[in-house]
Amino acid sequence: MVNNLFKKILYFSLAIAIGSSYWISQVALGASGEGHTTWYDSVDSGEIRYGGTTKYTTERSHANSLWNAMGLVYIAPDTAFTIQDLTYSDVYSTEDFSGRYNYYAGSVDTIKFNDRIFQARSSSYKKKTAAHELGHALGLDDHYSSSYSGIIMYGYSSGVTSLQSHDKADYNSKW
Ligand SMILES: [Zn+2]
Repeated sequence: MVNNLFKKILYFSLAIAIGSSYWISQVALGASGEGHTTWYDSVDSGEIRYGGTTKYTTERSHANSLWNAMGLVYIAPDTAFTIQDLTYSDVYSTEDFSGRYNYYAGSVDTIKFNDRIFQARSSSYKKKTAAHELGHALGLDDHYSSSYSGIIMYGYSSGVTSLQSHDKADYNSKW
């Protein structure tokens, strides 16, 4: 986790546009996308220790499995002996995002799943969202170019549920 004076300066969210079937990844305040990696992340001493509560544990577990298989950052639940780096929650928001990662400098980062969107979506949609948001917690950036349409870190709709070569390349570049 990178220390910084600012709190709540960055967030990513996967969203769906009103009236359309595709996703839009909104990036605010300094995160432009297509940078492959970001200077901030939720990793602390080689780990992401997470807490919080979500009903979407199947999707979270899938995301953990994908990224843990990369081997360089260990993602696991928080314990009494670890410092929590990331907190999950479900929200019911009328905003058009399905998942949102927030980086809070010097504090616990968050991933929120939007129940309103998730309730009506397929398993693969939800798995992509969970894997995508955890990718942000690992310091990976959004991609918007259609040439990246098959990857987890693509900012628009797809049913991809496994890491692609470019996701892996960005991870290995960051770590
Ligand atoms: Zn990239």
